[in-house]
Amino acid sequence: MSDSTPLLSIDSVEVTYQNAIVALHDVSLSVRAGEIHALLGANGAGKSTTLKAVSNLLPAQRGQVTAGRIHFEGRDVSGLNPSQLVRQGLVQVLEGRHCFPSLSIEENLITGALGRGARSSEIAADLARVYAIFPKLKALRRSPAGLTSGGEQQMAVIGRALLARPRLLVLDEPSMGLAPLVVQDIFHQLRRLNQTEGLSILVAEQNSAVALQYADRATVLDAGSTVLSGLASDLRQRQDIQHFYFGQSVAEAA
Ligand code: ATP
Repeated sequence: MSDSTPLLSIDSVEVTYQNAIVALHDVSLSVRAGEIHALLGANGAGKSTTLKAVSNLLPAQRGQVTAGRIHFEGRDVSGLNPSQLVRQGLVQVLEGRHCFPSLSIEENLITGALGRGARSSEIAADLARVYAIFPKLKALRRSPAGLTSGGEQQMAVIGRALLARPRLLVLDEPSMGLAPLVVQDIFHQLRRLNQTEGLSILVAEQNSAVALQYADRATVLDAGSTVLSGLASDLRQRQDIQHFYFGQSVAEAA
């Protein structure tokens, strides 16, 4: 892979569920190494479907990529299953912060390292790193994850993903259902990870305000197609974006 090759490139992707429902028509975006890239769009625009296509998770939902290509570090993802992709460094945190509720926070974190056969010294070092990023998790490390708050569970699933040592961290709607201050805290820590460790991040969000505050670049989806992409700082200035793409679909607005 040359320096100019994007870390992740999605080119003109179409996705169909159950051989009948076309959820994505024409989605393209590229994530550069070292950036935070926000994937924005209203409810149902196709953000989760795009992320599942990236991690090759669609077959579990009777979905498939029916046109286009997705490459991670120059390799076509279609030939790799989700666990192989995790081992390659493409690690996704799914929507809905799925913890193992009866396992402790620390046990949940450790599950992130299992797929890569990490030594116990590596796991200890990675746990210390996660606790430095999210000190609340250290205080709660012996608590069953199911008894912690939504924000703490979101931190735990991000921490678990970090134990898989991602080169690209993919997050689906981390703000969902969380209080604004908790959302700011989580995005702030993601930004810190990006800046201090160079971690590349692709984050799907309906909360465009917070995503554009922290992202470097963004892509906007509407009704299964890419309609805009550019610098987050430019998109933040665009008053029309909120109105056209997040309040109502383009078709409804016309
Ligand atoms: P949200 O923020 O609500 O999750 P989204 O932008 O992530 O929205 P998707 O969940 O990707 O959107 O949905 C895109 C379209 O695909 C929607 O029309 C949705 O109904 C459809 N869809 C999603 N999952 C499935 C599925 N498993 N089977 C059939 N259709 C689906």
